[in-house]
Formats: sequence, C-alpha cells, structure tokens
Amino acid sequence: KSFEDLNLVPELLRALSINSFHKPSKIQERALPLLLKNPAQNLIGQSQSGTGKTAAFTLNMLSRIDLSTPQPQCLVLAPTRELARQISQNCMMLGVFLEEKGLKIGEAIPNPANKGQQITGQIIVGTPGTVSDMIKRRQLDTRGMKVLTLDEADNMLDLQGMGDQCKRVKQLLPKNIQVVLFSATFPEQVLNFANLFAPNANQITL
Ligand code: AMP
Repeated sequence: KSFEDLNLVPELLRALSINSFHKPSKIQERALPLLLKNPAQNLIGQSQSGTGKTAAFTLNMLSRIDLSTPQPQCLVLAPTRELARQISQNCMMLGVFLEEKGLKIGEAIPNPANKGQQITGQIIVGTPGTVSDMIKRRQLDTRGMKVLTLDEADNMLDLQGMGDQCKRVKQLLPKNIQVVLFSATFPEQVLNFANLFAPNANQITL
C-alpha cells in the first residue's frame, strides 16, 4: 500500500514526499481508506502518539476542504494549546503546496491579542473551552463545518469539564458532520464517550 493508492491530490503527495513520508504507517494504512470514503463516515481510532495518527486525520481534512473560501470547514479539538499548535503546524507542513491555492489554518487558542477578532481558515485547531467561547461570541463561523476531529480523547476526559465542553461544541456544529476521534487508551469512560460522540463509527485499534 502506498499514498498514491489513496487518491490524494498531487499537492498532498508532493508534500508527503518532501517530508520523507515514503509510505503510510500502519495507522495511516488502516485509517485513511475509511476516513476518505464518501459519503464521509465517523471513525474511532486507537493509537499512541508517534504512530502517525496526526497525519492520518490531517490528510482527511486537507482532502475535504474547499479552498475557494476561507470559511471554516474542519475543526480539531485538542486537550492543550501545545498540542493544538503542533497539529496546526502539521496541517501547514502537509498543506504547504495548497497555500497558493488559498489554504489557511486558524488557531483557536487563548490569545489576549486577538480579543473579539474573527478567526478564519478552512481548518481550525483549538482547545475546547476557547473554541466554544469563540463560537458563542460569533468569532468562529460554524455553518460550513463538515469534519470534527478530537485528538487525545483520553487526555481530554482527564481534564475537568473538557468532555462536556467538547459535547457543547459539537452541539453548535451542523448535524451531519463527520466525527473522527483518536485516543491512546479506551477505558470504559472514554469508550462510552467515544460511542456517543462518534455514533456508528468505523473502529480501528493498532
Ligand atoms: P504522530 O504519531 O502523529 O505524533 O507522528 C509521529 C511522527 O512521525 C511525526 O514526526 C510525523 O511527522 C512522522 N510521520 C507520520 N507519518 C509518517 C510516515 N508515513 N512516514 C514517515 N514519518 C511519518
């Protein structure tokens, strides 16, 4: 199996190649065909960091966005600002050849400098509390959202109130959104949350 077999656009194949992603990792090989199916289906994936899960859900989002508008279309929720920033850097890395076509990544993390400002970008990466505040203050337009990705769900549920914040954000998004959830571990509480959050999902474990 190669990235070429996945029907990715040439700009993504070129970015994979210059970043020395020569072949899909195990999680990418299993997740990408499921993630890229149309109509889009939900996915619950078990994998540790270091396995390449970030590129798996990033390539899904980069394959689904409409670059003719900067309206937000994909939202990634992460437990910490640091992780959110890493994910947005990953999106830029794999999306580097889509930049001239209009790709923009927005970060929804606490930032006193942009109080009240509108966030744009086809892909928005943030932490749940800030994202939900920004939606309520109309700083983040949710009308065009079609993919919701949750990374490190187990770590999120360990933080007080973050599971509820994720649920609140999801309620503010269009109903037919594709939900993608990754977690390293699935204790019962995380599994129950995942099954409610991403109903009828394809499930993969490494
Ligand atoms: P992650 O598990 O998403 O944190 O990724 C772990 C590291 O592996 C990151 O530095 C990625 O850039 C790198 N990586 C992900 N997928 C591949 C691949 N298919 N080939 C080579 N490196 C990869």
